[in-house]
Amino acid sequence: MADSKLLPPAKRTNLGAQLKPFAEQGELRLQQCSSCQQFVYPPREVCGHCLSGDLSWEVCPAEGQVLARVDLHNSFEPFYAAQLPWVLLSVKLDAGPVVYAHSSSHSGLEDSGSEVETLEIEALEIESIANSGDRVELTLQLDEAAAPVFVAQPLK
Ligand SMILES: [Zn+2]
Repeated sequence: MADSKLLPPAKRTNLGAQLKPFAEQGELRLQQCSSCQQFVYPPREVCGHCLSGDLSWEVCPAEGQVLARVDLHNSFEPFYAAQLPWVLLSVKLDAGPVVYAHSSSHSGLEDSGSEVETLEIEALEIESIANSGDRVELTLQLDEAAAPVFVAQPLK
């Protein structure tokens, strides 16, 4: 019962918060440098490749490769602590940047049934979550706190 009121941390940097309208639209947009064309992440004031300040939010190709998978078995955040193990993936996008993403199998980011069903689903899916080297498609979504997050879906 109380779990339904738990929310993930919603703080974002001022630049990171600019991802929210794109998450609402379901668009994967990252900053792109108009000078060297590189996609830039995390959001910043100047391009990390050429130091140009001419960055704009552009649609980014969504596919990439998992660099590492971390299964969290402990969390100081009550939202995550209630749903352990929680899987985080670092994903190297084909477009260049490395982003940290939640796994698409987490019920916390999808509409699902009861807590018991959720646990059963997670027990089944925990092994089918992407691992290092796997190809994934990234989406930008809003989490329960209406904050933008990346979610990785394995490509089979
Ligand atoms: Zn640049």
